[in-house]
Order: sequence, then C-alpha cells, then structure tokens
Amino acid sequence: MPRLAYITEANKRVKVSSVLSSLFGIDADDGVDGQRTSCPQGYDHSDGGVASSLRVYPTDNTAYCFSHAKKYDVVDLAVMYFDTPRRRAAQLLLEKFEIDITPPTVEERNAALDRLEAGEIPGRLDKTSLKTAVVTYARTLPGWTSNQYIDEVLDCTNKVLQGVEGLPENSTLESLEQYLEKAKSVFIRLWDTLELTDTP
Ligand SMILES: [Zn+2]
Repeated sequence: MPRLAYITEANKRVKVSSVLSSLFGIDADDGVDGQRTSCPQGYDHSDGGVASSLRVYPTDNTAYCFSHAKKYDVVDLAVMYFDTPRRRAAQLLLEKFEIDITPPTVEERNAALDRLEAGEIPGRLDKTSLKTAVVTYARTLPGWTSNQYIDEVLDCTNKVLQGVEGLPENSTLESLEQYLEKAKSVFIRLWDTLELTDTP
C-alpha cells in the first residue's frame, strides 16, 4: 500500500465552507470570496468572538481570521476540530466526508481503460494536452534523443499518439490520466527490450 496523500487530498477535495458549516456549525457557503463569518476559535478573540472576523475564500479553499491574523487551510481546521496532528486530522476529515483516496488497483485501471476504449466513459478529454504529456514523458526516457527515430521507438510513439486520436471526444480527465499511465508503461516495456545506443 503506497503512502496516501491525506493532507494534499483533504485540502484539495474537501471544501473549506463544508468544514466550517458541517463540523463547526458556522455559516459559510461555496460562493463568493471574502464572505464574513465567525471564527471557530472566536472565544480566543478579545471580544469573545462577537465580531465576524473570519473571511472565507472558496477560490483557494482557505479562510483567514483577522483577529487571529492567521490563514487556515482545510487541514488546519481539521486539526482544530479533531485535535490531532495534521496527517491524522486529514485522514479523519476524508473519512468524515466519505472521500476514498485509495488509488485504483491495476485491475481497476485496466477495466477503466477498457471502458474508455469502448467509449463508455463520458466527460471531456483534451487530446492535445494528452499528446503533449505523452511526448514530454517520452523525452525523459534515458537515451531518448538518440533513439527516438529508430523503428521500434517511432512505431511505439506513433501507436500511442494514434491511440489518443482514437479516444472518445467526451472522455474524462481521469481517463486521460489513465491513458497516460498506460502509455508510460508501454514505453517502459519497450525500453526494457531495446538495446539502446548512447544511454547516458
Ligand atoms: Zn479567530
């Protein structure tokens, strides 16, 4: 099991307004930046928390308390609420909001890719950015510069890029990422079989 990115994922996937409203019972919504509300630790303020000194910023998913003169991200608020260190607080928060960040297994990825290829996964796919990502990755392979035009490599690159063309127009970003991962593994497998020249 890889080390899961609880803190990053919690900050990305749980809304600051949801944490304030659901956990602390404070008025906050996912609307405009700078909306005024109460600080969860208003009892620490000189006025006991009477003034609405917290500002909520849905755009960057943070809040700022003018009395505390302190910026809070989602995990900061989770630490406050669960009274436990950041990583554990982030994990508890994800559980509380029922967000599963376990990465898909190889079987799940392959099944998703099959569905993608069969055109069953809806969504939006930017094929241009996917092609760029494939080429950017390929350039990081050892000896790419001197080997990119040998038959096997050209053939592989063309197939991968043609595969992008074959993807449905409405594919999801997630499926785009899955395709990229598959493309990487195709290159890695090829690289294992090649007798490369001029490998640095
Ligand atoms: Zn405060």
